Amino acid sequence: MSALDTANRIVIKIGSQLLVDPETGHVHRRWLETLGQDIAALRAEGKEVTIVSSGAIAIGRRHLGLPAGKLMLPENQAAAATGMVRLTHAYQEVLGQHDLTVAQVLLTLDDSENRRRYINARNTLTELLKLGAVPLINENDTVATDEIRFGDNDRLAARVAAMISADLLIMLSDIDGLYTANPQVDPAAEFVPEVRGQITPEIEAMAGVQLSGDTKGGMVTKIAAAKIATGAGTTAMITLGKATNNPLARIRNGARCTVFIPDANPRTARKEWIAGSLKPAGRLHVDAGALNALRSGKSLLPAGVNRVEGAFERGDAVAIIDPDGREIARGLVAYHQDEASRIAGHKTGEIEEILGYRGRDEMIHRDDLVLI
Ligand code: GLU
Repeated sequence: MSALDTANRIVIKIGSQLLVDPETGHVHRRWLETLGQDIAALRAEGKEVTIVSSGAIAIGRRHLGLPAGKLMLPENQAAAATGMVRLTHAYQEVLGQHDLTVAQVLLTLDDSENRRRYINARNTLTELLKLGAVPLINENDTVATDEIRFGDNDRLAARVAAMISADLLIMLSDIDGLYTANPQVDPAAEFVPEVRGQITPEIEAMAGVQLSGDTKGGMVTKIAAAKIATGAGTTAMITLGKATNNPLARIRNGARCTVFIPDANPRTARKEWIAGSLKPAGRLHVDAGALNALRSGKSLLPAGVNRVEGAFERGDAVAIIDPDGREIARGLVAYHQDEASRIAGHKTGEIEEILGYRGRDEMIHRDDLVLI
């Protein structure tokens, strides 16, 4: 059975090379249609699919009459703005044939690193998936300058997979997976079907070195992406997608791929991250009722909070303190400290009246909470 059979939440990364004819800047329509069939089949099984696609620059540059070869940053940004329209349109046309709705989301590095923006992006993506849409993600190249860019969509896709706690990240590539050395130059290179647990320096070395000028894609960034994904409990997969119709159906039919299997699942990895690696910026003192609710796996509601201490932003980690003064849990709080103080002790239905807007129902959602 392939990792695709068991996964429920899947991120698929598609590179420009697979999707766009570099000469004409046209989308490989037939190929995209077969990918659309595969995605529709996964959706029909109830699986959630998110696409991270490149191609905006490759498509857009032709329409602006930009020359072949390396472009300057502003030219790239202009090309991305032009190409993104056509890229999204192509996906919507193809997936629309299967009654699927595409939702365009453009992200920058900041959105995955700044906790508040991270939580916003996570909430929006989760909502889109809940509503049955297929998020189509690309880097927001038009506003991202070199310093703040991911620069390659492999890493962006891995961050997205971690952000939404995906079970599986599939990187469709121009090669069927990882080899012990570069198979194009080393005839003794052997295929690596599976990497379990930690991605060690030995594994990284197999990918070779990043050639200068070749900043995007390539095995080095794919391994870096696999590392980000598996660190968050997401299984990562590299397989052939280029000039190969129905690339996802192929995986299910046993096509060759390298699978990176994490030690933990996304849920455990996320809980470990919340419990271990974040320093609490504040403390929420809760009453006995809230304590019981937390113990039975429920969210922390504002009504159960007696007192708020510390200086924190929305999305920061905070400690939850029981009536005896012991820390019993940690979580990512959905409100800024001022707002949290104002709604503490109040019913969820009163939040809008107190704050003047309707925020989350919970002070800390159970997915963002871990008992200690
Ligand atoms: N975001 C870029 C684009 O859509 C591509 C980045 C990459 O190729 O990884 O054109």
